[in-house]
Amino acid sequence: MARKRKPTLAVWKFASCDGCQLSVLDLEDELLAITEHLEIANFLEASRAVSRGPYDISLVEGSITTPHDAERIHQVRRASKILVTIGACATAGGIQALRNFKNVKEYVSIVYASPEYIETLGKSTPIADHVFVDFELRGCPINKYQLVEVLTALLHGRKPVTPSYGVCVECKRNGTVCVAVAQGTACLGPVTNAGCNALCPAYARGCFGCFGPKPAPNTSALAAFWTDEGMRRLDLVRMFRNFNAAAEAFRKESEAHDA
Ligand code: SF4
Ligand code: SF4
Repeated sequence: MARKRKPTLAVWKFASCDGCQLSVLDLEDELLAITEHLEIANFLEASRAVSRGPYDISLVEGSITTPHDAERIHQVRRASKILVTIGACATAGGIQALRNFKNVKEYVSIVYASPEYIETLGKSTPIADHVFVDFELRGCPINKYQLVEVLTALLHGRKPVTPSYGVCVECKRNGTVCVAVAQGTACLGPVTNAGCNALCPAYARGCFGCFGPKPAPNTSALAAFWTDEGMRRLDLVRMFRNFNAAAEAFRKESEAHDA
């Protein structure tokens, strides 16, 4: 009797640091179980062996920053039944979206000895600005256990369950003393989606917003609080311009304070 074909998985890289792909490889205890249900057909960071598409599930890391990638993402979309973006680069433009607030040509002329060879777009944009995305998994990097949940849900034909509340909830659950209240440390936790288990506050650091804005984030109230505490406008801008600087809520709040 013919064996049932396993669904195929492809992993693609665009402008990124590879950290989210490494999170996939970091699934040391789960990866073998995953391959019992999915054929890893195209994952160049893991293997040179590539099976031709189309693919049942594609994971896309990275943002669109070049004309070539703006074309290539359409090829990936056409080759993918389900397309999931992974990480802050793919879902919000990433740290490289800091270019969006300046003239990238000035950077290129300063950084490169021969800027005429550099072909780059003026903005770093998320994948969903270019093609239809079935699910966005956020984080810088992603939470590998959330990735397992996404793959499991897709294989069973259900919607993935990921947190839709703020980092403060994780602090409270963990019994972590609030660094904003106790130490006056700037923290984006009240407006950032959970997913890291409030890692930074656990080490007495403020949240940098790796998982992007939570649903309906009250960024203006947070900015007003820190302004009352004496924070300078420039530091407010910097607080919201981080790994998810171009995510709409964070972008708007930083622009509101950028003189
Ligand atoms: S989201 Fe963060 S960890 Fe993932 S590829 Fe982008 S910079 Fe790297
Ligand atoms: S440390 Fe930050 S994330 Fe944690 S409770 Fe305080 S404001 Fe919220």
